[in-house]
Amino acid sequence: MRPDYDIAWQMTDAPDASVTVSGDTTGMSHLVVPGEIDTSHGLILYLENISVSFDGFRALNDLSLSIKTDELRCIIGPNGAGKTTMMDVVTGKTRPDTGRAFLGQTLDLTRLDEPAIAQAGVGRKFQKPTVFEHHSVWENLELACAGDKRWFRALWAILTPAMRRRIEEVLALTHLERQARVLAAQLSHGQKQRLEIGMLLMQQPQLLLLDEPAAGMTDEETAQLAELLNRLRGHCSMMVVEHDMAFVASLAGDTGLVTVMAEGRVLAEGTLDAVQRDERVIESYLGR
Ligand code: ADP
Ligand code: MG
Repeated sequence: MRPDYDIAWQMTDAPDASVTVSGDTTGMSHLVVPGEIDTSHGLILYLENISVSFDGFRALNDLSLSIKTDELRCIIGPNGAGKTTMMDVVTGKTRPDTGRAFLGQTLDLTRLDEPAIAQAGVGRKFQKPTVFEHHSVWENLELACAGDKRWFRALWAILTPAMRRRIEEVLALTHLERQARVLAAQLSHGQKQRLEIGMLLMQQPQLLLLDEPAAGMTDEETAQLAELLNRLRGHCSMMVVEHDMAFVASLAGDTGLVTVMAEGRVLAEGTLDAVQRDERVIESYLGR
């Protein structure tokens, strides 16, 4: 299902012959990789009327939310709003009781299991970094591809030039070039978080989910993380749950959409400035 690792890596290379471009009369054109996620309607994620109950308590209550291709969407909202549960639905960890969930136009997330959803291109970053402490940064990036059987075989053979180039590109993106040979155990918290994002990038995700990625970081680490996520624009779509408003501001800018969740649904959506002025948002979240 994944593109062959020997083809030019899409993160840095121009679309090649395996990529077709479909245009329409509005002049909008979207990349469609055959056999991959169909984003011809411009959406990477589409959630409609999703409900999830735990012992009768509605963690998600008729949630509808969609993310455009290449968008970096910030999600804010009080604890218990259902933000993590929403990500659990997207990754297949939790099945919704009702509602529709699609990756692109055609991949019904409610019919796929967790590995299939990951394979389809959804990467998830958890709060606690899960790097291989006793391996170097470089080895961590190599191992991040071990889930792919062809690559697993390649571990016994040689590192292909394409793979070497990808690792170097991810090191550059994550600003970990100088730490390539350092054991992951010796990295700072912020560097570990960036390495984990790098490991996710090795899988070429189309949609990256980050749940409170700045938690526990220093201000400097948080700023570096924001820079990294801003650099990833155009490489993949992202959905970032975060409480740190300065961090959200550095990702959303003046025009990016911010979604406010409360009580299992979307309370408001708009620019950060607009949602921060929204009375309902002030009442349920920001004002307290
Ligand atoms: P958020 O991430 O916005 O803080 P969560 O999605 O973690 O919110 O939780 C939403 C609500 O669902 C909370 O009240 C939480 O206690 C409840 N919840 C989440 N997961 C479970 C679970 N596995 N079993 C029971 N209740 C859960
Ligand atoms: Mg949460």
